[in-house]
Amino acid sequence: MLNFTVGPVQAGEEVRAIGAQQVPYFRTPEFSQVMLENEERMCRFAKAPAGSRCVFITGSGTASMEAAVMNALTHRDKVLLINGGSFGQRFHELLALHQIPFEQIRLSTGQALRAEHLAPYEGRGFTAFVVNIHETSTGVRYDPALISEFCRRNGLFLLVDAISSFLADEFRMADWGVDVMITGSQKALACPPGVSVIVLSPKALARVEKSQARCMYLDLKSALKNGERGQTPFTPAVGTLLQIHERLAQIDRDGGAEAETAKIGALAAWFRSVIHDLPLDICSEAMSNAVTPLMTRNCSAYDVFTTLKDQYGIWVCPNGGEYQHKIFRVGHIGALTQQDYQVLLDALRDLVRRGILK
Ligand SMILES: *Cc1c(COP(=O)(O)O)cnc(C)c1O
Repeated sequence: MLNFTVGPVQAGEEVRAIGAQQVPYFRTPEFSQVMLENEERMCRFAKAPAGSRCVFITGSGTASMEAAVMNALTHRDKVLLINGGSFGQRFHELLALHQIPFEQIRLSTGQALRAEHLAPYEGRGFTAFVVNIHETSTGVRYDPALISEFCRRNGLFLLVDAISSFLADEFRMADWGVDVMITGSQKALACPPGVSVIVLSPKALARVEKSQARCMYLDLKSALKNGERGQTPFTPAVGTLLQIHERLAQIDRDGGAEAETAKIGALAAWFRSVIHDLPLDICSEAMSNAVTPLMTRNCSAYDVFTTLKDQYGIWVCPNGGEYQHKIFRVGHIGALTQQDYQVLLDALRDLVRRGILK
């Protein structure tokens, strides 16, 4: 199968080779060294401010979203949330569940965030801002400069789910004043699912230190304490962390996060430039490099997904909910080349010939 979804995505050969090996015992100086290097590279690639720390949670991205909400926010906060799709909705549910006061800006599918959306919330006593910088469900990337300036003016703590955006789009934690950045192993890190990553600024670390959160597994104080010696409180996904180590080292060797982002960006731009003959419309006002959301005209997007999967050995990413039959997404993260996209383009053109894509 050729995989153009947004996660799990295709892993490179070296990462897959580690997956075939025995998983080692982990309470060792060798594994601690691996974890300390993982932390250092993650902070560096996120361009985190000096004194930042990073924890690795065994659990998918949502575990880290929940850990961040529980440990870095309290019932004394007043949060402004951007909710433009299913991942924004997930934050909505988490904030409600953990009884953190919030208001939300609802955006419709494909809609970009603009200054006029934020203007009514200026100077209204908010303390924190929560956003999925790339709302993967709709393919919209919110403007980080706009958010950053709003948060600076209003003195807001900034918590960003960059799960599908990290490495795909530029991310500058220190410059943008981001306090918490979250990502996951199965997106542009191109490893198996099961590990998520939280980078915390000194301001976020101070909040975690004071946190009264009542949860054992997602207690970030304990994760940070153990992390000082390159360890985790409980048995982590050791194999996946070794794969992440290999992947981060590779990125480091190949020119760092900028080079990786440039590669993904070039692939996305090229793909978007060669699909004009297809009866598909790009349906996002502001895109991430991670994915291209495509709207069908006179056929079901879900049928396109199913036919590609069953008859061509290709996965694209279907949409759920009300857009199930209207939108499918083509991802640009993971070990993919132009040749891989050529196979996808040939298949899509074949679907046009067969009258399935119209
Ligand atoms: C993938 C993703 C998540 C995490 O989902 P999990 O299934 O828990 O890994 C969260 N937010 C965004 C924006 C994502 O793209």
